[in-house]
Amino acid sequence: ILREASVAMLSINNIVVVYDNVILVLKGVSLDVRKGAITTLLGANGAGKSTTLKAISGILFTERGSITKGTITLEGKPIQGKRAFDVTSLGIAQVFEGRRVFESLTCEENLVAGAHIERDSGKIASGIELVYSYFPRLKERRNQQSGYLSGGEQQMLAIGRALMSSPKVILLDEPSLGLAPMLVEEIFGIVKRLVEREGLTVLLVEQNASMALAVAEH
Ligand code: ATP
Repeated sequence: ILREASVAMLSINNIVVVYDNVILVLKGVSLDVRKGAITTLLGANGAGKSTTLKAISGILFTERGSITKGTITLEGKPIQGKRAFDVTSLGIAQVFEGRRVFESLTCEENLVAGAHIERDSGKIASGIELVYSYFPRLKERRNQQSGYLSGGEQQMLAIGRALMSSPKVILLDEPSLGLAPMLVEEIFGIVKRLVEREGLTVLLVEQNASMALAVAEH
């Protein structure tokens, strides 16, 4: 039982990340994200937390960044350097800092967009129902333009959209940013239920250490 509990779903081993070939941002970062649990990565502004998530999800290159050393493995298989689309297909979804929803689309259209790797319309429909069961507020707002949702609702939508690719792992970048404590508690509570009931694995990046430590196991 002990061994099962300590299985790493995602591992980062000694990675070095450089922007523009010269700006050294991560210098030998290693961490394990345990399966079916919430692991939190804490750190001050500019410490390199978002860069760590971008290195995992494969979008570093869009900002002229690259992993020059080290490995990243998902269930033991190397994924470093793969394209974002392929990383998503392998089961990792990133929720960006600042809840970037597609503002001109409705809530439900955003969810459909999140299922871009899914071809089966039945699975897309059941994915939407699953998201609504965890985020009933999104169901109430399903036909509203998402640019007009509140900050908390947009954060819920960003998480819900990530769930639409049926990920094994969700990378959550500062979901508490700019939200009232009560809302943050509500959102973290839902994330915790997703972990417990759906077996989701979460890597949570936060500056709000007390909030993050209240929900994270590691
Ligand atoms: P925050 O909480 O403010 O998001 P963070 O810990 O997530 O901080 P990063 O966004 O990863 O930090 O940034 C780490 C460092 O890398 C910072 O010094 C930042 O200026 C630098 N950096 C980030 N993106 C780039 C880029 N595209 N080009 C050059 N430097 C960058």
